[in-house]
Amino acid sequence: MILDSASWQGNVFLGGKWSPSSGGVIDVVEPATGNVLGHVGLADPADVAQAAESAAEAQRGWAALPHPQRAAVLRRAGQLFAEHADEVSWWNIREVGAIPPMAGFAVHVAEQECYEAAGLPSRPYGELLPSEEPRLSMARRVPVGVVGVISPFNVPLILSIRSVAPALALGNAVILKPDPRTAVTGGVSIARIFEEAGLPPGVLQMLPGGADAGEAMVTHPLVRVISFTGSTPAGRKVGALAGQHLKRAHLELGGNNALIVLEDADVDQAVTLAAFGSFFHQGQICMTTGRHLVHERVYDDFVERLAAKAAGLPVGDPATSEVALGPMIDAGQRDHTHDIVTSTAAAGAVVAAGGSFEDLFYRATVLTGVPVESRAFTEEIFGPVAPVTRFRSADDIAALARNEYGLSLGIVTKDVMRGLALADKIPTGIVHINDQTISDEANSPFGGVGASGTGSRFGGAAANVDAFTETRWVTMRAEPPGYPF
Ligand code: NAD
Repeated sequence: MILDSASWQGNVFLGGKWSPSSGGVIDVVEPATGNVLGHVGLADPADVAQAAESAAEAQRGWAALPHPQRAAVLRRAGQLFAEHADEVSWWNIREVGAIPPMAGFAVHVAEQECYEAAGLPSRPYGELLPSEEPRLSMARRVPVGVVGVISPFNVPLILSIRSVAPALALGNAVILKPDPRTAVTGGVSIARIFEEAGLPPGVLQMLPGGADAGEAMVTHPLVRVISFTGSTPAGRKVGALAGQHLKRAHLELGGNNALIVLEDADVDQAVTLAAFGSFFHQGQICMTTGRHLVHERVYDDFVERLAAKAAGLPVGDPATSEVALGPMIDAGQRDHTHDIVTSTAAAGAVVAAGGSFEDLFYRATVLTGVPVESRAFTEEIFGPVAPVTRFRSADDIAALARNEYGLSLGIVTKDVMRGLALADKIPTGIVHINDQTISDEANSPFGGVGASGTGSRFGGAAANVDAFTETRWVTMRAEPPGYPF
Protein backbone atom coordinates (compact mmCIF):
# COMPACT_ATOMS: atom_id res chain seq x y z
CA MET A 1 0.00 0.00 0.00
CA ILE A 2 1.48 3.31 -1.05
CA LEU A 3 -0.36 5.23 1.66
CA ASP A 4 0.36 2.81 4.46
CA SER A 5 0.38 5.12 7.44
CA ALA A 6 3.52 3.64 9.02
CA SER A 7 5.69 6.18 7.19
CA TRP A 8 3.67 9.38 7.27
CA GLN A 9 1.57 9.09 10.45
CA GLY A 10 2.21 12.21 12.57
CA ASN A 11 4.98 13.37 10.21
CA VAL A 12 5.84 15.84 7.49
CA PHE A 13 8.10 15.06 4.51
CA LEU A 14 11.19 17.13 5.19
CA GLY A 15 14.72 16.73 3.84
CA GLY A 16 13.76 13.51 2.04
CA LYS A 17 12.49 11.82 5.23
CA TRP A 18 9.19 11.39 7.01
CA SER A 19 9.90 13.16 10.27
CA PRO A 20 8.20 15.04 13.10
CA SER A 21 7.71 18.78 12.59
CA SER A 22 8.26 21.59 15.04
CA GLY A 23 4.62 22.69 14.51
CA GLY A 24 3.23 19.52 16.16
CA VAL A 25 0.54 17.13 14.94
CA ILE A 26 -3.07 17.54 13.75
CA ASP A 27 -5.97 15.14 13.28
CA VAL A 28 -7.13 14.07 9.85
CA VAL A 29 -10.92 14.30 10.24
CA GLU A 30 -13.55 12.63 8.07
CA PRO A 31 -16.20 15.32 7.42
CA ALA A 32 -19.01 12.79 6.81
CA THR A 33 -18.67 11.18 10.26
CA GLY A 34 -16.39 13.34 12.38
CA ASN A 35 -14.11 10.29 12.81
CA VAL A 36 -10.37 10.80 13.09
CA LEU A 37 -8.69 8.94 10.21
CA GLY A 38 -5.11 9.57 11.29
CA HIS A 39 -2.65 12.34 12.10
CA VAL A 40 -0.26 14.41 10.05
CA GLY A 41 2.55 16.70 11.09
CA LEU A 42 1.80 20.42 11.11
CA ALA A 43 4.56 22.67 9.83
CA ASP A 44 5.48 26.05 11.26
CA PRO A 45 7.86 28.72 9.89
CA ALA A 46 10.91 26.92 11.35
CA ASP A 47 10.04 23.79 9.34
CA VAL A 48 9.61 25.94 6.24
CA ALA A 49 13.07 27.46 6.71
CA GLN A 50 14.62 24.00 7.08
CA ALA A 51 12.75 22.76 4.00
CA ALA A 52 13.89 25.74 1.94
CA GLU A 53 17.58 25.10 2.76
CA SER A 54 17.26 21.41 2.01
CA ALA A 55 15.30 21.97 -1.21
CA ALA A 56 17.79 24.57 -2.51
CA GLU A 57 20.63 22.13 -1.92
CA ALA A 58 18.84 19.21 -3.61
CA GLN A 59 17.66 21.30 -6.57
CA ARG A 60 21.14 21.75 -8.05
CA GLY A 61 21.74 18.04 -8.46
CA TRP A 62 18.21 17.43 -9.78
CA ALA A 63 18.48 20.17 -12.43
CA ALA A 64 21.86 18.77 -13.52
CA LEU A 65 20.52 15.26 -14.18
CA PRO A 66 20.23 14.21 -17.83
CA HIS A 67 16.74 15.06 -19.04
CA PRO A 68 15.64 11.44 -19.66
CA GLN A 69 16.24 10.69 -15.98
CA ARG A 70 13.98 13.52 -14.85
CA ALA A 71 11.34 12.49 -17.39
CA ALA A 72 11.48 8.89 -16.14
CA VAL A 73 10.63 9.97 -12.58
CA LEU A 74 7.59 11.87 -13.85
CA ARG A 75 6.45 8.94 -16.00
CA ARG A 76 6.84 6.56 -13.10
CA ALA A 77 4.83 8.90 -10.86
CA GLY A 78 2.01 8.86 -13.45
CA GLN A 79 2.10 5.06 -13.50
CA LEU A 80 1.99 4.93 -9.70
CA PHE A 81 -1.09 7.16 -9.62
CA ALA A 82 -2.75 4.72 -12.01
CA GLU A 83 -1.64 1.64 -10.03
CA HIS A 84 -2.78 3.09 -6.70
CA ALA A 85 -5.87 4.90 -7.98
CA ASP A 86 -8.26 3.08 -5.64
CA GLU A 87 -6.21 3.83 -2.56
CA VAL A 88 -5.70 7.50 -3.40
CA SER A 89 -9.42 7.81 -4.26
CA TRP A 90 -10.36 6.20 -0.94
CA TRP A 91 -8.60 9.01 0.92
CA ASN A 92 -10.22 11.64 -1.29
CA ILE A 93 -13.67 10.19 -0.52
CA ARG A 94 -13.03 9.93 3.21
CA GLU A 95 -10.90 12.99 3.90
CA VAL A 96 -12.39 15.50 1.43
CA GLY A 97 -15.94 14.12 1.16
CA ALA A 98 -15.68 13.61 -2.60
CA ILE A 99 -18.14 11.26 -4.30
CA PRO A 100 -16.36 8.35 -6.07
CA PRO A 101 -16.66 9.80 -9.63
CA MET A 102 -14.99 13.00 -8.41
CA ALA A 103 -12.27 11.07 -6.58
CA GLY A 104 -11.63 8.91 -9.66
CA PHE A 105 -11.49 11.96 -11.90
CA ALA A 106 -8.94 13.65 -9.60
CA VAL A 107 -6.58 10.64 -9.77
CA HIS A 108 -6.98 10.50 -13.54
CA VAL A 109 -6.01 14.18 -13.82
CA ALA A 110 -3.07 13.64 -11.43
CA GLU A 111 -1.81 10.81 -13.63
CA GLN A 112 -2.19 12.95 -16.77
CA GLU A 113 -0.43 15.90 -15.13
CA CYS A 114 2.59 13.65 -14.54
CA TYR A 115 2.59 12.35 -18.12
CA GLU A 116 2.23 15.88 -19.53
CA ALA A 117 5.09 17.02 -17.29
CA ALA A 118 7.24 14.08 -18.43
CA GLY A 119 7.36 15.76 -21.86
CA LEU A 120 8.87 18.96 -20.46
CA PRO A 121 12.48 17.96 -19.62
CA SER A 122 13.29 17.17 -23.27
CA ARG A 123 11.75 20.31 -24.75
CA PRO A 124 14.04 22.93 -26.28
CA TYR A 125 14.83 25.30 -23.44
CA GLY A 126 15.24 28.61 -25.13
CA GLU A 127 15.71 30.48 -28.35
CA LEU A 128 18.64 31.58 -30.47
CA LEU A 129 18.43 35.31 -31.04
CA PRO A 130 19.76 37.44 -33.89
CA SER A 131 22.42 39.83 -32.62
CA GLU A 132 23.94 43.01 -34.02
CA GLU A 133 27.28 41.86 -32.67
CA PRO A 134 29.47 38.95 -33.86
CA ARG A 135 28.29 36.68 -31.11
CA LEU A 136 25.94 33.84 -30.31
CA SER A 137 22.99 35.25 -28.41
CA MET A 138 20.34 33.20 -26.72
CA ALA A 139 17.41 33.38 -24.35
CA ARG A 140 17.90 30.37 -22.15
CA ARG A 141 15.13 29.00 -19.95
CA VAL A 142 16.46 28.07 -16.53
CA PRO A 143 14.68 26.59 -13.50
CA VAL A 144 13.77 29.22 -10.92
CA GLY A 145 15.24 27.11 -8.09
CA VAL A 146 12.75 26.40 -5.31
CA VAL A 147 9.02 26.74 -6.06
CA GLY A 148 6.51 27.08 -3.21
CA VAL A 149 3.11 25.49 -3.92
CA ILE A 150 0.20 26.47 -1.66
CA SER A 151 -3.05 24.58 -2.32
CA PRO A 152 -6.62 24.62 -0.95
CA PHE A 153 -8.86 21.97 0.61
CA ASN A 154 -11.46 21.59 -2.10
CA VAL A 155 -9.74 19.62 -4.88
CA PRO A 156 -6.44 19.08 -3.11
CA LEU A 157 -4.90 16.44 -5.35
CA ILE A 158 -5.35 18.25 -8.67
CA LEU A 159 -4.57 21.69 -7.31
CA SER A 160 -1.30 20.50 -5.81
CA ILE A 161 -0.07 18.19 -8.59
CA ARG A 162 -0.83 20.65 -11.41
CA SER A 163 2.02 22.81 -10.10
CA VAL A 164 4.22 20.18 -8.43
CA ALA A 165 4.63 17.97 -11.53
CA PRO A 166 5.62 20.64 -14.10
CA ALA A 167 7.78 22.54 -11.58
CA LEU A 168 9.74 19.36 -10.82
CA ALA A 169 9.97 18.37 -14.47
CA LEU A 170 11.52 21.72 -15.34
CA GLY A 171 14.37 21.18 -12.86
CA ASN A 172 13.03 22.94 -9.77
CA ALA A 173 12.72 21.71 -6.22
CA VAL A 174 9.27 22.14 -4.67
CA ILE A 175 7.93 22.84 -1.19
CA LEU A 176 4.27 21.80 -1.18
CA LYS A 177 2.01 23.18 1.54
CA PRO A 178 -1.41 21.54 1.34
CA ASP A 179 -4.34 22.75 3.41
CA PRO A 180 -4.07 20.97 6.78
CA ARG A 181 -7.73 19.79 6.50
CA THR A 182 -6.93 17.68 3.44
CA ALA A 183 -3.22 17.00 3.84
CA VAL A 184 -3.27 13.29 2.97
CA THR A 185 -5.01 13.70 -0.39
CA GLY A 186 -3.31 16.99 -1.24
CA GLY A 187 0.15 16.29 0.13
CA VAL A 188 0.99 12.89 1.57
CA SER A 189 -0.20 10.99 -1.53
CA ILE A 190 1.97 13.14 -3.82
CA ALA A 191 5.04 12.93 -1.58
CA ARG A 192 4.69 9.14 -1.24
CA ILE A 193 4.27 8.66 -4.99
CA PHE A 194 7.32 10.75 -5.88
CA GLU A 195 9.32 8.99 -3.17
CA GLU A 196 8.44 5.62 -4.74
CA ALA A 197 9.03 7.02 -8.24
CA GLY A 198 12.67 7.65 -7.35
CA LEU A 199 12.75 11.43 -6.95
CA PRO A 200 16.05 12.25 -5.19
CA PRO A 201 15.68 13.16 -1.48
CA GLY A 202 15.00 16.81 -0.74
CA VAL A 203 13.72 17.73 -4.22
CA LEU A 204 10.13 17.61 -2.93
CA GLN A 205 9.29 18.71 0.60
CA MET A 206 5.72 18.37 1.87
CA LEU A 207 4.58 20.50 4.81
CA PRO A 208 0.90 20.63 5.81
CA GLY A 209 0.39 23.98 7.48
CA GLY A 210 -1.73 27.06 7.93
CA ALA A 211 -1.38 30.67 6.83
CA ASP A 212 1.75 31.15 8.98
CA ALA A 213 3.59 28.39 7.12
CA GLY A 214 2.29 29.76 3.79
CA GLU A 215 3.53 33.24 4.62
CA ALA A 216 6.90 31.83 5.68
CA MET A 217 7.19 30.29 2.21
CA VAL A 218 6.30 33.57 0.53
CA THR A 219 8.92 35.49 2.52
CA HIS A 220 11.78 32.96 2.55
CA PRO A 221 14.55 34.22 0.24
CA LEU A 222 15.33 30.75 -1.14
CA VAL A 223 11.74 30.21 -2.37
CA ARG A 224 11.79 32.06 -5.66
CA VAL A 225 8.31 31.55 -7.15
CA ILE A 226 4.97 30.97 -5.41
CA SER A 227 2.12 29.05 -6.97
CA PHE A 228 -0.95 29.83 -4.89
CA THR A 229 -4.45 28.43 -5.36
CA GLY A 230 -7.10 29.57 -2.92
CA SER A 231 -9.51 32.34 -2.02
CA THR A 232 -9.31 35.85 -3.40
CA PRO A 233 -8.75 37.50 0.04
CA ALA A 234 -5.83 35.16 0.89
CA GLY A 235 -4.50 35.54 -2.67
CA ARG A 236 -4.43 39.32 -2.29
CA LYS A 237 -2.34 38.94 0.89
CA VAL A 238 0.03 36.49 -0.78
CA GLY A 239 0.38 38.76 -3.81
CA ALA A 240 1.12 41.81 -1.65
CA LEU A 241 3.69 39.93 0.42
CA ALA A 242 5.32 38.45 -2.66
CA GLY A 243 5.51 41.94 -4.13
CA GLN A 244 7.31 43.23 -1.05
CA HIS A 245 9.80 40.40 -1.39
CA LEU A 246 10.12 40.94 -5.14
CA LYS A 247 9.10 37.45 -6.12
CA ARG A 248 6.73 36.11 -8.71
CA ALA A 249 3.39 34.80 -7.42
CA HIS A 250 0.98 32.89 -9.67
CA LEU A 251 -2.43 33.40 -8.10
CA GLU A 252 -5.40 31.18 -9.00
CA LEU A 253 -8.31 32.51 -6.94
CA GLY A 254 -12.05 32.44 -6.45
CA GLY A 255 -14.84 32.63 -8.99
CA ASN A 256 -18.53 33.41 -9.38
CA ASN A 257 -19.17 31.86 -12.75
CA ALA A 258 -22.21 32.37 -14.95
CA LEU A 259 -24.09 29.77 -16.96
CA ILE A 260 -26.14 31.62 -19.58
CA VAL A 261 -29.15 29.81 -20.99
CA LEU A 262 -30.33 31.50 -24.19
CA GLU A 263 -33.92 31.30 -25.43
CA ASP A 264 -33.15 28.65 -28.07
CA ALA A 265 -31.67 26.16 -25.55
CA ASP A 266 -33.11 22.71 -24.96
CA VAL A 267 -34.39 23.05 -21.39
CA ASP A 268 -33.77 19.45 -20.32
CA GLN A 269 -30.18 19.62 -21.49
CA ALA A 270 -29.71 23.01 -19.84
CA VAL A 271 -31.06 21.68 -16.52
CA THR A 272 -28.67 18.71 -16.60
CA LEU A 273 -25.74 21.10 -17.13
CA ALA A 274 -27.03 23.50 -14.51
CA ALA A 275 -27.41 20.84 -11.81
CA PHE A 276 -23.95 19.45 -12.40
CA GLY A 277 -22.41 22.92 -12.57
CA SER A 278 -23.80 23.96 -9.19
CA PHE A 279 -24.00 20.72 -7.19
CA PHE A 280 -20.97 18.66 -8.23
CA HIS A 281 -18.58 18.32 -5.28
CA GLN A 282 -21.10 20.20 -3.13
CA GLY A 283 -20.39 23.37 -5.09
CA GLN A 284 -16.89 23.52 -3.62
CA ILE A 285 -15.07 24.12 -6.91
CA CYS A 286 -13.67 27.43 -8.12
CA MET A 287 -15.40 26.82 -11.49
CA THR A 288 -18.77 25.98 -9.89
CA THR A 289 -21.72 27.61 -11.63
CA GLY A 290 -22.48 30.44 -9.22
CA ARG A 291 -25.16 32.19 -11.28
CA HIS A 292 -27.71 30.83 -13.76
CA LEU A 293 -28.82 33.56 -16.14
CA VAL A 294 -31.86 32.27 -17.97
CA HIS A 295 -33.85 33.88 -20.78
CA GLU A 296 -37.42 34.66 -19.77
CA ARG A 297 -38.86 32.49 -22.57
CA VAL A 298 -37.48 29.31 -20.95
CA TYR A 299 -37.15 30.54 -17.35
CA ASP A 300 -40.31 29.03 -15.77
CA ASP A 301 -39.70 25.65 -17.31
CA PHE A 302 -36.02 25.76 -16.32
CA VAL A 303 -36.56 26.61 -12.64
CA GLU A 304 -39.35 24.06 -12.24
CA ARG A 305 -37.23 21.23 -13.65
CA LEU A 306 -34.06 22.31 -11.87
CA ALA A 307 -35.87 22.45 -8.51
CA ALA A 308 -37.39 19.00 -9.10
CA LYS A 309 -33.99 17.61 -10.02
CA ALA A 310 -32.30 19.18 -6.98
CA ALA A 311 -34.96 17.84 -4.63
CA GLY A 312 -34.28 14.31 -5.91
CA LEU A 313 -30.49 14.35 -5.48
CA PRO A 314 -29.35 12.08 -2.63
CA VAL A 315 -27.02 13.64 -0.05
CA GLY A 316 -24.98 11.54 2.37
CA ASP A 317 -21.74 9.76 3.21
CA PRO A 318 -20.03 8.95 -0.12
CA ALA A 319 -17.99 6.18 1.53
CA THR A 320 -21.02 4.13 2.51
CA SER A 321 -23.86 5.04 0.13
CA GLU A 322 -24.40 6.02 -3.47
CA VAL A 323 -25.00 9.76 -3.30
CA ALA A 324 -24.78 12.74 -5.63
CA LEU A 325 -23.60 15.09 -2.89
CA GLY A 326 -21.25 14.31 0.00
CA PRO A 327 -20.54 16.46 3.06
CA MET A 328 -19.16 19.96 3.03
CA ILE A 329 -15.66 20.25 4.38
CA ASP A 330 -16.52 21.79 7.76
CA ALA A 331 -19.08 23.74 9.75
CA GLY A 332 -17.52 27.07 8.78
CA GLN A 333 -18.03 26.42 5.08
CA ARG A 334 -21.57 25.11 5.68
CA ASP A 335 -22.57 28.13 7.78
CA HIS A 336 -21.10 30.50 5.20
CA THR A 337 -23.32 28.84 2.57
CA HIS A 338 -26.39 28.93 4.77
CA ASP A 339 -25.88 32.61 5.65
CA ILE A 340 -25.84 33.50 1.96
CA VAL A 341 -28.95 31.40 1.28
CA THR A 342 -30.93 32.97 4.13
CA SER A 343 -29.77 36.49 3.35
CA THR A 344 -30.68 36.06 -0.33
CA ALA A 345 -34.11 34.67 0.57
CA ALA A 346 -34.61 37.71 2.83
CA ALA A 347 -33.67 39.91 -0.14
CA GLY A 348 -36.58 38.47 -2.14
CA ALA A 349 -35.39 35.19 -3.73
CA VAL A 350 -37.53 32.04 -3.46
CA VAL A 351 -35.99 28.86 -2.04
CA ALA A 352 -37.35 26.44 -4.66
CA ALA A 353 -35.40 23.41 -3.35
CA GLY A 354 -33.10 22.62 -0.42
CA GLY A 355 -32.00 25.49 1.78
CA SER A 356 -31.43 23.20 4.76
CA PHE A 357 -28.82 20.81 6.16
CA GLU A 358 -28.08 18.06 8.63
CA ASP A 359 -24.61 17.94 10.14
CA LEU A 360 -22.31 18.82 7.21
CA PHE A 361 -24.75 17.57 4.57
CA TYR A 362 -26.21 20.56 2.78
CA ARG A 363 -29.08 19.79 0.41
CA ALA A 364 -28.92 20.77 -3.24
CA THR A 365 -30.47 24.22 -3.18
CA VAL A 366 -32.18 26.25 -5.89
CA LEU A 367 -32.84 29.95 -5.39
CA THR A 368 -35.09 31.57 -7.99
CA GLY A 369 -35.77 35.20 -8.75
CA VAL A 370 -32.36 36.05 -7.33
CA PRO A 371 -31.92 39.85 -7.20
CA VAL A 372 -28.71 41.10 -8.78
CA GLU A 373 -27.68 42.99 -5.65
CA SER A 374 -28.21 39.96 -3.32
CA ARG A 375 -25.32 38.04 -1.80
CA ALA A 376 -26.01 34.86 -3.82
CA PHE A 377 -25.56 36.87 -7.01
CA THR A 378 -22.55 38.93 -6.04
CA GLU A 379 -20.47 36.55 -3.85
CA GLU A 380 -18.72 33.24 -4.33
CA ILE A 381 -20.83 30.81 -2.26
CA PHE A 382 -18.70 27.65 -2.39
CA GLY A 383 -21.66 25.45 -1.50
CA PRO A 384 -24.32 23.45 -3.41
CA VAL A 385 -26.52 26.38 -4.38
CA ALA A 386 -27.92 27.28 -7.80
CA PRO A 387 -29.01 30.95 -7.86
CA VAL A 388 -31.23 31.62 -10.90
CA THR A 389 -31.89 35.07 -12.38
CA ARG A 390 -34.14 35.87 -15.34
CA PHE A 391 -33.06 38.11 -18.22
CA ARG A 392 -35.26 39.61 -20.89
CA SER A 393 -33.14 40.77 -23.75
CA ALA A 394 -30.02 39.41 -25.33
CA ASP A 395 -28.74 43.00 -25.18
CA ASP A 396 -28.49 43.03 -21.36
CA ILE A 397 -26.99 39.61 -20.87
CA ALA A 398 -23.29 40.44 -21.24
CA ALA A 399 -23.54 43.27 -18.70
CA LEU A 400 -25.44 41.00 -16.31
CA ALA A 401 -22.86 38.21 -16.64
CA ARG A 402 -19.77 40.36 -16.10
CA ASN A 403 -18.57 40.75 -12.52
CA GLU A 404 -15.32 41.33 -10.63
CA TYR A 405 -14.30 37.69 -11.13
CA GLY A 406 -13.36 36.10 -14.44
CA LEU A 407 -12.66 32.39 -14.18
CA SER A 408 -15.15 30.32 -16.16
CA LEU A 409 -18.29 30.83 -18.27
CA GLY A 410 -20.84 28.50 -19.83
CA ILE A 411 -23.29 29.37 -22.60
CA VAL A 412 -26.13 27.09 -23.73
CA THR A 413 -27.51 27.79 -27.21
CA LYS A 414 -28.23 26.04 -30.47
CA ASP A 415 -26.34 28.82 -32.27
CA VAL A 416 -22.69 28.27 -31.34
CA MET A 417 -21.42 31.28 -33.28
CA ARG A 418 -23.80 33.51 -31.35
CA GLY A 419 -22.54 31.88 -28.16
CA LEU A 420 -18.95 32.62 -29.10
CA ALA A 421 -19.78 36.24 -29.97
CA LEU A 422 -21.46 36.63 -26.58
CA ALA A 423 -18.47 35.05 -24.82
CA ASP A 424 -16.23 37.70 -26.41
CA LYS A 425 -18.08 40.35 -24.38
CA ILE A 426 -17.55 38.61 -21.02
CA PRO A 427 -13.88 38.38 -19.98
CA THR A 428 -13.02 35.03 -18.36
CA GLY A 429 -10.01 32.72 -18.55
CA ILE A 430 -12.19 29.77 -19.58
CA VAL A 431 -15.39 29.50 -21.64
CA HIS A 432 -17.41 26.44 -22.61
CA ILE A 433 -20.10 26.77 -25.27
CA ASN A 434 -22.84 24.20 -24.71
CA ASP A 435 -21.41 23.02 -21.44
CA GLN A 436 -21.44 24.02 -17.80
CA THR A 437 -18.56 25.84 -16.15
CA ILE A 438 -16.50 23.00 -14.59
CA SER A 439 -13.81 21.21 -16.58
CA ASP A 440 -10.13 20.38 -16.28
CA GLU A 441 -7.61 18.79 -18.60
CA ALA A 442 -3.89 18.59 -17.94
CA ASN A 443 -2.93 19.92 -21.39
CA SER A 444 -5.17 23.00 -21.32
CA PRO A 445 -4.33 26.44 -19.93
CA PHE A 446 -6.26 27.00 -16.72
CA GLY A 447 -6.73 30.29 -14.92
CA GLY A 448 -8.76 33.43 -14.50
CA VAL A 449 -8.67 37.19 -14.81
CA GLY A 450 -9.80 39.99 -12.48
CA ALA A 451 -10.45 38.82 -8.91
CA SER A 452 -9.97 35.22 -10.10
CA GLY A 453 -6.23 35.60 -10.53
CA THR A 454 -3.25 37.32 -12.00
CA GLY A 455 -3.95 36.06 -15.50
CA SER A 456 -1.14 33.54 -15.37
CA ARG A 457 -1.97 29.99 -16.38
CA PHE A 458 -1.26 26.41 -15.39
CA GLY A 459 -1.66 23.53 -17.82
CA GLY A 460 -0.18 22.99 -21.23
CA ALA A 461 3.52 23.14 -21.95
CA ALA A 462 3.74 26.84 -22.82
CA ALA A 463 1.94 28.00 -19.68
CA ASN A 464 3.92 25.70 -17.41
CA VAL A 465 7.28 26.72 -18.88
CA ASP A 466 6.33 30.37 -18.32
CA ALA A 467 5.24 29.66 -14.76
CA PHE A 468 8.19 27.59 -13.57
CA THR A 469 11.26 28.86 -15.40
CA GLU A 470 12.87 32.20 -15.96
CA THR A 471 14.75 33.51 -18.96
CA ARG A 472 18.46 34.19 -18.88
CA TRP A 473 20.09 36.13 -21.74
CA VAL A 474 23.38 34.45 -22.60
CA THR A 475 25.92 35.65 -25.19
CA MET A 476 29.20 34.09 -26.29
CA ARG A 477 31.87 35.48 -28.60
CA ALA A 478 35.19 34.13 -29.79
CA GLU A 479 37.17 37.26 -28.75
CA PRO A 480 36.34 40.08 -26.34
CA PRO A 481 35.30 43.24 -28.24
CA GLY A 482 37.09 46.61 -28.18
CA TYR A 483 35.46 49.66 -26.50
CA PRO A 484 35.94 53.46 -26.96
CA PHE A 485 37.74 53.75 -23.59
P1 NAD B 1 -7.87 29.76 1.40
O1 NAD B 1 -7.42 30.93 0.64
O2 NAD B 1 -8.42 29.97 2.76
O3 NAD B 1 -6.68 28.70 1.58
C1 NAD B 1 -5.95 28.21 0.47
C2 NAD B 1 -4.54 27.84 0.92
O4 NAD B 1 -3.84 29.02 1.28
C3 NAD B 1 -4.48 26.94 2.15
O5 NAD B 1 -3.39 26.06 2.00
C4 NAD B 1 -4.24 27.93 3.28
O6 NAD B 1 -3.61 27.33 4.39
C5 NAD B 1 -3.32 28.93 2.60
N1 NAD B 1 -3.36 30.29 3.14
C6 NAD B 1 -4.40 30.95 3.69
N2 NAD B 1 -4.04 32.20 4.04
C7 NAD B 1 -2.75 32.34 3.65
C8 NAD B 1 -1.81 33.42 3.73
N3 NAD B 1 -2.12 34.60 4.26
N4 NAD B 1 -0.55 33.21 3.25
C9 NAD B 1 -0.21 32.04 2.69
N5 NAD B 1 -1.05 30.97 2.61
C10 NAD B 1 -2.31 31.14 3.09
O7 NAD B 1 -8.90 29.03 0.44
P2 NAD B 1 -9.96 27.90 0.77
O8 NAD B 1 -11.17 28.54 1.32
O9 NAD B 1 -9.35 26.79 1.49
O10 NAD B 1 -10.25 27.38 -0.72
C11 NAD B 1 -11.33 27.77 -1.43
C12 NAD B 1 -11.01 28.95 -2.33
O11 NAD B 1 -10.04 28.59 -3.30
C13 NAD B 1 -12.23 29.40 -3.11
O12 NAD B 1 -12.27 30.80 -3.14
C14 NAD B 1 -11.96 28.85 -4.49
O13 NAD B 1 -12.63 29.51 -5.53
C15 NAD B 1 -10.49 28.96 -4.60
N6 NAD B 1 -9.98 28.05 -5.63
C16 NAD B 1 -9.46 28.56 -6.78
C17 NAD B 1 -9.02 27.71 -7.79
C18 NAD B 1 -8.45 28.23 -9.08
O14 NAD B 1 -7.74 27.50 -9.75
N7 NAD B 1 -8.73 29.46 -9.47
C19 NAD B 1 -9.11 26.33 -7.60
C20 NAD B 1 -9.66 25.86 -6.41
C21 NAD B 1 -10.07 26.73 -5.42
